[in-house]
Parts: sequence; structure tokens; C-alpha cells
Amino acid sequence: MSVSIVDLVRQGFSGDDVPDDDLLRACVHCGMCLPTCPTYRLTGEEASSPRGRLWLMRSVADGRLDLLDPEFDEQMYQCLNCRACEAVCPSGVHYGPLVEASRAQLEQHRPRPLWQRVGRKVGLDVPFSRVGRMRAMVNALRLYQRFGLSTALRKTGLLRLLRFETLEAMLPQISQPPLVSGEESWTPGIVDDHVVLFNGCIMSTVFSNVNRATGRVLAHNRVAVTVPAAQQCCGALHVHSGMMNEARKLARTNIEAFEGDGQSPIVVTAAGCGAALKEYGFLLKDDPVYAERAAAFTARVQDVTEYLGNRELVAPTHEVKGTVTYQEPCHLVHAQRISVQPRALLGQVPGLELVEMKESSLCCGSAGIYNIIRKRMADELGDRKAENVVATHADTVVTANPGCHMQLRTSLRRKGSAMPVRHIVELLDEAYGGQANEPHQSSVR
Ligand code: SF4
Ligand code: SF4
Repeated sequence: MSVSIVDLVRQGFSGDDVPDDDLLRACVHCGMCLPTCPTYRLTGEEASSPRGRLWLMRSVADGRLDLLDPEFDEQMYQCLNCRACEAVCPSGVHYGPLVEASRAQLEQHRPRPLWQRVGRKVGLDVPFSRVGRMRAMVNALRLYQRFGLSTALRKTGLLRLLRFETLEAMLPQISQPPLVSGEESWTPGIVDDHVVLFNGCIMSTVFSNVNRATGRVLAHNRVAVTVPAAQQCCGALHVHSGMMNEARKLARTNIEAFEGDGQSPIVVTAAGCGAALKEYGFLLKDDPVYAERAAAFTARVQDVTEYLGNRELVAPTHEVKGTVTYQEPCHLVHAQRISVQPRALLGQVPGLELVEMKESSLCCGSAGIYNIIRKRMADELGDRKAENVVATHADTVVTANPGCHMQLRTSLRRKGSAMPVRHIVELLDEAYGGQANEPHQSSVR
């Protein structure tokens, strides 16, 4: 067989995080995943579908396509990693780890220009690899919001110059100081169970009100809640960006941070974090020291709606009058296959009516940092989602993931709607009397 010069220079997968060949070859090209894929629905192009992307991955694995081919790069990063394809695949193609490994390959072998490397370091690794840094940033943002600096800075054009405008527009009002891990806990009078809260980086800072509401709701349900001190960010954004070594470092830190709590369930308030934590076993499967510990950690992780939805709730005491519609976070419905419990919980809030929206489980376009780096497609998906939300005429839209929360808020505002966006737990908290009815919260500060 003759080998051409082109074949000799063609680069396949190599080094760490090579996409799993068996997983890759599980695709039987049936096409059942195509209608569920948001990028295929927007473009109508085979290459932008799960089947098309799997074919590209396989072409690189088989040496028919260069790893550094621009089309491969484009498609691996155009994908939202929403996992909708996985949920409908009859062959059980575990698509998420394949696209994540493909991105890891690109990060290892494709030199990025200096400005991109600096951007990733400053925008991703610095704030997300130490929760203390995120806290400092968010404290500064709270002051920024409190003193109304946004309007003044917009007038100077500085926000646009620093490319901060998109990010700034997505931020909700940060209502409470960060919840510092290890410094607060909730202990009910009667304790039926004990859980440990995964505090997260965005959830413990921008959405600390949701984590505190979670502590109260669990305590009302006779569940004691502690927040292990040494925990860090889950590493989901690192995994999605192909930064596997950074993600593994965070995973090891979190495994150690939660080992002291024995077998208590690890409750998570962000769908994206929960999906990442449930894959620590896969992420560290080849680590001789952490593989077993990662699998044990993963087995303990539950989304807060999963944990509460599988318990018999203590009857809520307050009416929460109104209508809500539910936007399903991709990493809850597709990656974790949790869809029934959030609706069942909403159904137990007295006075609340759930109105289903069209395409509730179609990605809203948030997808980690997708709505920052791929704004056009993210905006198209966000607009579509906002239209579906508004069409329900609900008073409030609820979700269970910070990325969806921010994307929904921005998309609704763009469409001229001021509809509030809330986490499911916030409504449950109201149904138990909210902050005014704090059950045995303690602080060690
Ligand atoms: S549904 Fe599964 S087997 Fe069918 S084309 Fe999509 S990934 Fe391949
Ligand atoms: S993860 Fe989502 S965007 Fe990516 S191929 Fe699958 S369905 Fe399409």
C-alpha cells in the first residue's frame, strides 16, 4: 500500500485523553439524535449534528482527517455539549466524554495564539481554580452593583472596550454575601438524615441565596446540612474547555474535602456541577490513587431536586400564589436524566400552578461559556427559549442551573420581558416561610 506525503503529516489522536475507541464505534449512524441537536436544528448541516461530529472524530481516529483540520476544531467547539443526543441514542453512545476528549486533544496539540492563552488563563483558570478568588471578584461585583457603577461605566464605553458588556448584562442582582464553605450549617430539631452541600464557585457567590435557601428547605425536612470547608469549584468549565489536568486537580481536592463525611449524600444545587461531579469516576479512572475514591465520591452525588424529590416532603406551610414554567437544564435532564422530580416538587408548593413550555428540554444556549465565546448561536437559542417562556404567560420561569438562569434572564430582557428567573428551591423555601422562618441555622464565624 502506498502512503502519500499527506498521510504522513496527518495527525491523529495521541497522548493523554484520547477519545475512547469503543464508544466512538458504538454509533450505528441511525440519525435518531439529529432532531434533538440544537446546532443541527439551527444549521440543518450534517457536520453540525451528533452523527456528523462522531464521524469527524472517527475520521481523525482512523487517520482520514487531520486533528488540526479547521472543520474538526469548528465542530468540536460549535457543539454545546448539551448531551441531548446521548439521551435518545439507542446504541448508548456516551457522547459527552467523546467531545470533551476531542477538545482535550485540540488543547494538547494545537498551539493557541498568545492572546487566547492569556484569555483562557485570566477568564477561566484564575477565577475558577480557587473559590477564594471568585469570592473576592464577586464581592467587588456586589459593590459595583450597589453603587450603580454600571450605568456610569457604560457611558464611558469602557465596558465594551474591555469586552465585559455581555458578561455584565448576564449578572443577576447579587443579593447576599458569599456562603463560605465550612462557616454555616443547618441543624433541625429532629434529624432524619445528614447531607453535605456542594457549595460550588458561582452558586456560593453569585447565587449564595439559593444555597442558603437549600439549607433551610433541607432542615425543614429534618435533614442536617454541613458545608465541607476545603471544597473548590467542580471543574466542569475546565472539562468542557479541554483543560483536563486542571479539572483533575480540582476533582482530587474535592474528593479529599468530602471524604471526612463518610457516606452522607453530596447535595448539589447546580445541574452543571452535579453532572461534572457524577463523572469524577470517569475523569480519574486511570489514576492509581484516586480511581476508587472518585467512584465512591460519584456514587454519593445527588442534585437537590433528586434528593428532595425522592423523599416524602414535610408539608409546606405557606401559599406561593402564581404560575411558573420550568426550563430543564441540559445537564439535569440529559446528562443526569432527572426530569420528573423537579416538576413533582413544584407540584407540592401550595398555590403554585406549573404551565409547561414548548421545547422545555432544548438547550437555552448557555452551555458553560458558550454564550460568551459563541454569542451569535447562543443568542439564537436564547431568543427561541425566551419566546417559548413568554408564550406560557407564566409569572415566573424556574430552572436549576446558574448558567441557564443567567442566559434566560438576558434573553428575556432582550425580548422586552421582565419575567423573574428563579431556582426551584427558592419557591420551596418560600413555601416553608423563607428566611423569616430560618430553622436552626448556625454560623461558626
Ligand atoms: S442516535 Fe446514536 S447511534 Fe444513532 S446516529 Fe446518533 S449517536 Fe449514532
Ligand atoms: S451535545 Fe448537544 S449540541 Fe453537541 S452534538 Fe449532542 S445534541 Fe448536538
